[in-house]
Amino acid sequence: MTADVDMQLDPTSQREIEAAAAAWEIAERKELQQDSLALLLRAYYQSLFPYKPYFQWLNYGPVAGPTFQHREFSFTLQNDIYIRFQSFKDAEDLRVELLRMCPVKIDIGAIYNAKPKDKKTLRQGAFQPLEKELVFDIDMTDYDEIRTCCSGGDICLKCWDFMTVAIKIIDRALRDDFGFKHRLWVYSGRRGVHCWVCDSRARRLDNEGRKAVVGWLEVVKGGVQKTRKVQLPATLPPSLQQAMHVLKEHFEESILRKQDVLGAPEQWRKVLDIIGDDNVRPALGKQWSSDDTQDSVQRWASLVKLLENPPNPRAKRTYSSHIARDIMFQYMYPRLDDKVTSQLNHLLKSPFCIHPKTGRVCVPIDAATCEQFNPLKVPVIEDLINEINAFDKQAESEAGSDSAATARRKVPDVEKTSLKPYVQMFKRFVSQLVKDEIKQNQATPRHKQVYF
Ligand SMILES: [Zn+2]
Repeated sequence: MTADVDMQLDPTSQREIEAAAAAWEIAERKELQQDSLALLLRAYYQSLFPYKPYFQWLNYGPVAGPTFQHREFSFTLQNDIYIRFQSFKDAEDLRVELLRMCPVKIDIGAIYNAKPKDKKTLRQGAFQPLEKELVFDIDMTDYDEIRTCCSGGDICLKCWDFMTVAIKIIDRALRDDFGFKHRLWVYSGRRGVHCWVCDSRARRLDNEGRKAVVGWLEVVKGGVQKTRKVQLPATLPPSLQQAMHVLKEHFEESILRKQDVLGAPEQWRKVLDIIGDDNVRPALGKQWSSDDTQDSVQRWASLVKLLENPPNPRAKRTYSSHIARDIMFQYMYPRLDDKVTSQLNHLLKSPFCIHPKTGRVCVPIDAATCEQFNPLKVPVIEDLINEINAFDKQAESEAGSDSAATARRKVPDVEKTSLKPYVQMFKRFVSQLVKDEIKQNQATPRHKQVYF
């Protein structure tokens, strides 16, 4: 646009044009970003995606069969096109298609009685899901009414404690209460964690069986409107006693210190509303408002004390003696997305896919050391590609014919990057899983003909 034309415009049109020009610039920049994401994804699928262990995981063995070939994958492409019912012959077929389509997101669905890509050729109703890992999805946004540090898609190390506690409690229950051995925990790439239970017994659960598992694990019930979401019996069942150990271990540090849930009236009112008792609630509110030198730890101590010795002992108590314990459960016990778990054909984001917003890889998390996991240090796609380039540049500058230089040139790309330990962890998981699967099939052969 020329200055002459500008001068003829009234101020409103001028502003509109400037806004449009700014929007155009943003759009151009976005397109640029999209272009660079496409390039990064291509490089990632070319050099870093762990095809071999990934295939062995979903195939449950080294030789390609219907367990892999009848599995649904769905892709989200860069232009937001969502393609369901993709399926692949083997690891190479998957690789070729990932490189061709460069999806920004990969979801994994169920194993069907036919190849998902042939779905349209089957008569209606003939295409049925048969199996899938038992999966769990724990999302930080379900803790928004509790966390005081962040909300929505944001996370920080303070609120990540909710995920650590969730992994500890759910992982123990899956192992000890259900006897599941092969549990793969994965960072969702942004604000949550997933768990894939891969034991054959778990994979064969129908919707009812999956619902029963959720029913066993679920403690926090009710939406935002419900103030008291946890009502447990006076004597906890053994599984929840175990959960209570974890809650006790983390409650003071995570809920009282880091989240500071009794730090300000708008926060502590939520806790008092759970108690509800007209004798205790006003007394506590008054005590806390009158002394702003107290921190959440001191206030919690006064809450526990006052619940035991209410100000007017003769007044009728409307709370149960274990309400403080139930509040601990309400504030920290894992919140599960039950739809994801209870529906066999529900899709879940794949491990090792890239989160389109953060660029972080959905890497496995070792449940045994989950307290050390830092989501903010998970590799970002751009850094990984830069790490490969930096390594190669270094190798080039050291070029020579000595054996060290030759060895450096032969290093697989993944080993040049910070993704290496995560891929190694995944390989160990898959190798143990496949070993057990083969052993189990030898003991009691699987009736694989069910697929044909
Ligand atoms: Zn936070």
